[in-house]
Amino acid sequence: MAKLIRKPPLSRSEQMSRIRSRDTLPEMLLRRTLWRMGLRYRLRSTLPGRPDIVFSSEKLAVFVDGCFWHGCPTHFRAPKTRAEYWSPKIDANIARDRRNDEALHASGWHVCRLWEHEIETNPEASARKVAALLLELRRQAGAPEGPLERIQFD
Ligand SMILES: [Zn+2]
Repeated sequence: MAKLIRKPPLSRSEQMSRIRSRDTLPEMLLRRTLWRMGLRYRLRSTLPGRPDIVFSSEKLAVFVDGCFWHGCPTHFRAPKTRAEYWSPKIDANIARDRRNDEALHASGWHVCRLWEHEIETNPEASARKVAALLLELRRQAGAPEGPLERIQFD
């Protein structure tokens, strides 16, 4: 069983260190969990928004969104100093995320966005969410389910 961790609000320096970057801790955690489930994926995509994890055959793009930079409704707090600088910046990030989603949808891609706090709290549940989407997409396409049919979704 995954243990549930209550995530405290991010400190200023934690927030600053979480500019969208590659190989963040939650991203690694998700990748490792997906890999253990037998799922294989591509990294470092050049698709709109540069999704963190890509399943090419199913056309599923997965994003791991940092709670600060992508404006998580639970964890985003505008820093007290220079809130007038940060709030529009984060709003612009959110708007860009939506535009990227639309661009992906327009070219036939499916989008799955996970918050870093979801993954940190329960990586297995996050990975199962991705696996459930893949399973649905494979079924729709009449493709073999592969290792997905052995996953317990309960
Ligand atoms: Zn969050």
